[in-house]
Amino acid sequence: MNEKRSVWDYEDIVGRGLLEDLELLAGNISGKVQHVNATYTGGGVAEILNSLIPLFKGLEIETEWNVIRGDDEFFSVTKSFHNQLHGRVGGPVDVRAHEQVSVLEDLEEQIKELSTKKRMLETYLHWSDVNASEMTNDGDFVFMHDPQPAALIRTKEKGHWIWRCHIDVSSPDPLVWNFLRDFVSKYDASIFSTPLFSRPDLGIRQFLVPPSIDPLSDKNIELSPGEIDKVLDKYEITTDKPIITQVSRFDRLKDLPGVIDAYKLLKKRIDCQLILAGGVAADDPEGMEVYREVLKKAEGEADIHLLLGSPPFADIEINAFQRASTVIMQKSLKEGFGLVVSEGLWKGKPVIGGATGGIPLQVINGVTGYLVHSVEGAAYKIANLLKDPELARKLGENGREHVRNNFLITRHLKDYLLVMLSLENPSRIIRL
Ligand code: UDP
Repeated sequence: MNEKRSVWDYEDIVGRGLLEDLELLAGNISGKVQHVNATYTGGGVAEILNSLIPLFKGLEIETEWNVIRGDDEFFSVTKSFHNQLHGRVGGPVDVRAHEQVSVLEDLEEQIKELSTKKRMLETYLHWSDVNASEMTNDGDFVFMHDPQPAALIRTKEKGHWIWRCHIDVSSPDPLVWNFLRDFVSKYDASIFSTPLFSRPDLGIRQFLVPPSIDPLSDKNIELSPGEIDKVLDKYEITTDKPIITQVSRFDRLKDLPGVIDAYKLLKKRIDCQLILAGGVAADDPEGMEVYREVLKKAEGEADIHLLLGSPPFADIEINAFQRASTVIMQKSLKEGFGLVVSEGLWKGKPVIGGATGGIPLQVINGVTGYLVHSVEGAAYKIANLLKDPELARKLGENGREHVRNNFLITRHLKDYLLVMLSLENPSRIIRL
């Protein structure tokens, strides 16, 4: 990715002050920045890097983006890590406690589980070695995103290495976390999206940097009514009934069955339609299985538009679905930050979100949308918004300002520059 983007393109949206700060901070950075993650497309991390890298370059900072590689088994392992680090939904469940098994059977089961885990860790380390031998991580500031590339710290020779964690690791599976912590604790610093996701047992500097959306990307740019209609026509979606939309990867933690159940409850009272639009990330082998489960659950419902983007939807299409909606949902059971929430709010739509992960930072209950804990709660809150367009408009308007002040890419960029300067010289003062 070679393109550059000027921060001044954002002047009308964020004003001059912030952009002047960015130039001042960037002028104090010397050296090369590297970002390393697991995929160029699909999911929030890739989404952010696609916008951030051209802005770093536009500020004349030498910047590289590298993606690690692995086989299907490696990505199954890292997906499983992802789920286990997020912690089990509803707390740990010991299945064996419910079964009548002999001590011997129980021990055999445990040995089998441990040997599976051992193999998983070996696969992870094998691919880390492969990537280490193929990549040059000689940046002065190396941002490693999430657990997939974390073990590359073993190859560090120079620079400031930062583990950028996008997920909630506050109550992880202990074995997976202890394994990962051995690598992460060797970094110079870590960055978490909210204090709630961070760890007390890392022993390295921790920074807090919430993620962000890019208001000028195809995903979020203003669209004309004609452009929106063109996309709806393509998918044979009409606007004669209100639209509720959830955009998300086909992932169990996004609770797509819960969204369908809430919709079915709502539909008994108010005629409306549901768009479920998503793709399958390149590093997620579980996606197709979840899609088939959701397809089955939506069977026979004429007003559910289940849209599998393969390859993932063009950003303009996602943008149009969100803009055509009356209400945006993100009914996750567990969530990282949940960029789609800010995407919805930025478009002036109220968001109904699961009270988990980074969603409560974005959905201020009763101000920018509603936080829900159940299918029934979600159906009730959507009904309120569909019946009261003025309320929906007001919450959406609040949401847009909340995103403008807190979750745009320019603020994110400034935070990263501050982290870098702080690592390079903790005692230096730059007057903004
Ligand atoms: N997204 C997309 N196409 C899809 C599904 C998701 O472009 O089929 C985008 C979505 O608009 C958002 C990002 O991928 O920008 C998802 O980020 P989020 O933080 O909501 O969830 P994650 O996938 O990282 O868990």
